[in-house]
Amino acid sequence: DTFDAMGLQENLLRGIYAYGFEKPSAIQQRGIVPFCKGLDVIQQAQSGTGKTATFCSGILQQLDYGLVECQALVLAPTRELAQQIEKVMRALGDYLGVKVHACVGGTSVREDQRILSSGVHVVVGTPGRVFDMLRRQSLRADHIKMFVLDEADEMLSRGFKDQMYDIFQLLPANIQVGVFSATMPPEALEITRKFMNKPVRILV
Ligand code: AMP
Repeated sequence: DTFDAMGLQENLLRGIYAYGFEKPSAIQQRGIVPFCKGLDVIQQAQSGTGKTATFCSGILQQLDYGLVECQALVLAPTRELAQQIEKVMRALGDYLGVKVHACVGGTSVREDQRILSSGVHVVVGTPGRVFDMLRRQSLRADHIKMFVLDEADEMLSRGFKDQMYDIFQLLPANIQVGVFSATMPPEALEITRKFMNKPVRILV
C-alpha cells in the first residue's frame, strides 16, 4: 500500500511525491494498478477520494511520450473540473514531459486549435468543446487509446448523454475506458455496458 509498490515509472513517482502525496488513498490503492494494466475500470467514488490522481496516474504511466499525438481523452462535466484535472495531470506528469490541454467552452476556439495542432499527449475537456474539436478534426482521434469519463452521473444530469455517445463513436474501437461516478443511475450503467469491455468494478 505504497506508491512505490505499484510498478510506476520513476519519473511518475517523482511527480506524485513532488505534488505532496505520500501514501495512496483507498481508491488509488485499488484503482491505479488495474488502470495501468490497460483494464476497463468502473470506480464508484465521491469526489474527495483521490479519483483524479487515480486516472491521471493510470494515463501518465501508459503514454508513449515519443509520440506527440493525443493518446488519452478525459471528459468532465464542468469547465472548472476539466481545468482542475488539467492542472493535476500536468503536475503529476511534470518529470515525464507530458503535454496536456483543456478544451472547454467559453475559451477561444482558435487558441484551442493552435495548441492542439502544436501537439499534445492528453486532452481534458467538457463534452461540447471536445466534440466540436473532433468534428472539425482539430483534435485527431486516431491515436487515442484511453478514454475517461469523470463524474459520469453529473455529465448525464447536465444533458451530455448524446454528446458522450457522439464522441465515443468517433474514437478508435477497443480503447481502454475508465468510468468514474458517485452514483450509478440506469443511464450510467448503460454507458458502461456500451463503452466497456469486461470492466473491473471498484466501490469506495
Ligand atoms: P479528488 O477526489 O481527486 O478530487 O481529490 C480530493 C483531494 O485529495 C485533492 O485535494 C487531492 O489533492 C487530495 N489527494 C488525493 N490523493 C491524495 C493522496 N494520496 N495523499 C494526499 N492527498 C491526496
